[in-house]
Amino acid sequence: MEPLPPAPHRLLINGEALVANWRWLRERGGSAACGACVKADGYGLGAVEVSRRLVAAGCRDLYVSSWAEAAALPVFPGVGLSVFHGVLPGEEAFAAAHRARPVLSTVDQVLRWRPTKQPCDVMVDTGMNRLGLSPEDVRQGVTDGLVIDTLMSHLVAADTDSPTSEHQRAEFAALAGRTTARRMSLANSAGILLGEAYAFDLTRPGLALYGGRPRAEARVRSVVALQARVVQRRAVSAGGTVGYNGLWRAERDTPVAIVNLGYADGFARAWTNRGVASGPAGERLPVVGRVSMDLTALDVTTSPAIGDGEWITFPVDLSAAARATERSQYEVLTGLGQRMERSFI
Ligand SMILES: *Cc1c(COP(=O)(O)O)cnc(C)c1O
Repeated sequence: MEPLPPAPHRLLINGEALVANWRWLRERGGSAACGACVKADGYGLGAVEVSRRLVAAGCRDLYVSSWAEAAALPVFPGVGLSVFHGVLPGEEAFAAAHRARPVLSTVDQVLRWRPTKQPCDVMVDTGMNRLGLSPEDVRQGVTDGLVIDTLMSHLVAADTDSPTSEHQRAEFAALAGRTTARRMSLANSAGILLGEAYAFDLTRPGLALYGGRPRAEARVRSVVALQARVVQRRAVSAGGTVGYNGLWRAERDTPVAIVNLGYADGFARAWTNRGVASGPAGERLPVVGRVSMDLTALDVTTSPAIGDGEWITFPVDLSAAARATERSQYEVLTGLGQRMERSFI
């Protein structure tokens, strides 16, 4: 058997930009430690590779959502790992034997975890009404007897200028010293950008590590791009249309490259007639016609050299993509290149 040819597309990840973003976010937090959320397979970029790079840069706290995600990571000596979703009934034995800590968020979880005598984190709810004990539970001593590494809470609307953030910060700060927790942690990416008062001992960025900009203050670099090969270069005659429903019509004879990329790769149909790719020499290549499932057409007038098999880059600006597609930056990011190999540069 001949070997399988290389895949016609890949998700290109800039490891240097990822690390630079982590360092930048860490500096925003002053003396606070800076962790990293690598749930959802590192927001779709590959949790193992992302973690490896951030740990090498000095990150000592990783966050995932479930025990399956925790088990998928290699052991990084000296690095803490926390499971946001805590321990569901039946998970106690596995969790107690695992190096990761559950983030306990209900009285029931506390009661089931306390006998293990293993370290944990505790989530306290200051307004999200998603996961967490109430501040009153904490004041009443519900967490007494636990070995708590980090007491944490999560901001509802740090990506806007809502007064809610300050209310949450004050309510959380008032819990200092009410538990045996070694550290306190409140800020996600957007929370870090609200200022050092939100950093406490430890921050938990996700989105901004990967190039997302939850607030205008975010000076982070883009981390991801999609790359795909030209399947066919063709000449479209003046008056001819391209793609489903003929949404683009050639005003003059136009060379068009059909690329192995489509909405099934997270390159949204919203880019129909308005996306832009980048040629081998950085040329600007506009998307023409409708983006289909696996194919996208580009006007390659400026690039006579682009032939079949050429690699084309589709830079991803998460905030621009979120606006164009009316989705969140998180959805755009986690939807990118699910069937593609992740390639770190
Ligand atoms: C996902 C998550 C984060 C990271 O949020 P970003 O907005 O991606 O920075 C932090 N804390 C908790 C509890 C989370 O679930």
